[in-house]
Amino acid sequence: MTTTALEVRLASRPNGWPTEDTFEIAEVEVPTPGEGEILVRNVFMSVDPYMRGRMNDTKSYVAPFQVGAPMDGGALGEVVTSNSPGFAVGDHVLHGLGWREYAVVNAKHAVKVDGSAAPLSAYLGVLGMPGMTAYAGLLTTAEFKEGDAVFVSGAAGAVGQVVGQIARLKGASRVVGSAGSPEKVKYLIEELGFDAAFNYKDGPVTEQLAAAAPDGIDVYFDNVGGDHLEAAIDSLKLHGRVTICGAIAQYNATEPPKAPRNLHQLIAKRLTLRGMLVGDHRDLQPKFVQEAAAWIANGDLKYSETVIEGGIRKAPEAFLGMLRGENTGKMLVKL
Ligand code: NAP
Repeated sequence: MTTTALEVRLASRPNGWPTEDTFEIAEVEVPTPGEGEILVRNVFMSVDPYMRGRMNDTKSYVAPFQVGAPMDGGALGEVVTSNSPGFAVGDHVLHGLGWREYAVVNAKHAVKVDGSAAPLSAYLGVLGMPGMTAYAGLLTTAEFKEGDAVFVSGAAGAVGQVVGQIARLKGASRVVGSAGSPEKVKYLIEELGFDAAFNYKDGPVTEQLAAAAPDGIDVYFDNVGGDHLEAAIDSLKLHGRVTICGAIAQYNATEPPKAPRNLHQLIAKRLTLRGMLVGDHRDLQPKFVQEAAAWIANGDLKYSETVIEGGIRKAPEAFLGMLRGENTGKMLVKL
């Protein structure tokens, strides 16, 4: 077995958009697992929007990355050495030490996955954290109910794709999505069964949403913030609900957002805006996996992935590409 491997470190904290120089690729010794640990060769690693927040030195729900230290995040790999009775060489495991080729993982923090039940990559996407975010954010946070008209932004992304389809499967009266290219808009309508979709780069979101949902919306699943949230507030009906899941339009901003400017509408319409974190909904995980796996098996829940090949050196490019919208569905790196 090889004795050295590569890892990606945070080279500096970006102000505004990160670049390739934000990252440093370093060669290190392959670590040796101790008692109760396993050595994992990573096969896929995830690049996620929340990682941009961890590049800032600010207090949040998860600790910032440290400059000069390896980054981490969701990954899926194969056990190559096991010092834990629960894991055998060859097992596939999901864990939190991505951004490196080999990881020593405390067995308590590894979850075995069945590669024959679903493609391994799905456990980082549709059946993993993003899928779970969609499920919990729509059904619990937004208290979705049959007949609701739903709007989701970032609709062609990992979370957004699943939100729109679960809404449809659970009896939404109308499902509307926004995304950043004509190809994504076409995909949402023709492949994923959205009733309407628009490219937010084509014109004001407020006007495009009003045209796509002429009778208004009951639920808005917000992945973007800013003018998307403002547009949704305009379109929401009485007692409308909003899941504040993400605000990707602001993650690289150096100025405060200019929108929403219409929060006063919350009063007359008695709207509810509620933030959510997927980690608060672990109790829903078994139900989610059971339902989602059945939908995938019978073809009701479709998903796409953008898998960047070429190994760990491509990880920074994949992350930057995801921020620019180069992915449809979950953005992954194949190591
Ligand atoms: P994703 O949607 O697969 O990828 C990010 C997408 O954001 C890009 O593909 C791009 O698509 C879009 N985007 C980038 N800049 C934008 C802008 N200025 N305006 C509008 N869209 C923009 O990522 P994801 O993993 O599914 O995450 C989606 C959102 O959910 C993010 O905000 C993330 O932070 C949030 N999230 C929250 C939780 C939680 O627990 N609260 C968990 C997971 C994810 P376009 O081509 O459409 O622009």
